[in-house]
Amino acid sequence: QLIIENVNKHFGAVHVVKHVNLSIPEGKLVCFLGPSGCGKTTLLRMIAGLETPTSGRLSMDGKDLTHVPACERDFGMVFQSLALFPHMTVACNIAYPLRLRKAGKQSQKQRVDELLQLIQLPHMADRPVAQLSGGQRQRVAIARALASAPKLLLLDEPLSALDAKLREAMQVEIRLLQQRLGITTIMVTHDQREAMTMADVIVVMEQGQIAQIGSPLEVYRDPVNEFVADFIGLGN
Ligand code: ATP
Repeated sequence: QLIIENVNKHFGAVHVVKHVNLSIPEGKLVCFLGPSGCGKTTLLRMIAGLETPTSGRLSMDGKDLTHVPACERDFGMVFQSLALFPHMTVACNIAYPLRLRKAGKQSQKQRVDELLQLIQLPHMADRPVAQLSGGQRQRVAIARALASAPKLLLLDEPLSALDAKLREAMQVEIRLLQQRLGITTIMVTHDQREAMTMADVIVVMEQGQIAQIGSPLEVYRDPVNEFVADFIGLGN
């Protein structure tokens, strides 16, 4: 279980993440939801080890992670931009984290084949990523994040570049995959519908603070304040 205790982040004089306390339940999909600039991505990047908290503590299964560098943490991440290598093939992109870990050629190939099955693109191994559709690239980015079988999957607005229809289809696809694998997943989004559709737990953020934590139904039915009510209001 991932536990975040009184975590703060300042960038210069700006206090971007304020006194965040949170525990991420195992095997669930948790959404960080809030308007642009509320600190969602910064909190996710601290969980990844890509930013260091100014104060506070992060731990996973009882082990202090606060100052452990990203490369020594056990997570896979999908960035908003996907950050795939467009001229490399699908298989090379997926195998990239395994190559960094110096996995053997045979085990890399086996894992890539498994992941291609998982994302339902078994025939695409040798295609350059530049030739894929948006949804296919999305799946490749997820397969790459899962390559080293991490305990934690971090998704930073992974669907924001897709059109509305594909976005909805991918929401369902990612959720089904997450449930099938039972992998603990944290997803950042500013889209309340996306959070309602996909999350087990929604963490609503307002100006660096957690405004409310609850199931989609709880935050929808019983918003703790006007900000949450307005933000979750699905009429918007
Ligand atoms: P968005 O959905 O627009 O990405 P967000 O909720 O994820 O927003 P963050 O990206 O975490 O918000 O940014 C929170 C605040 O911190 C913003 O005001 C941003 O300008 C500031 N910020 C983020 N990264 C840095 C940085 N490296 N240096 C200085 N300020 C930063």
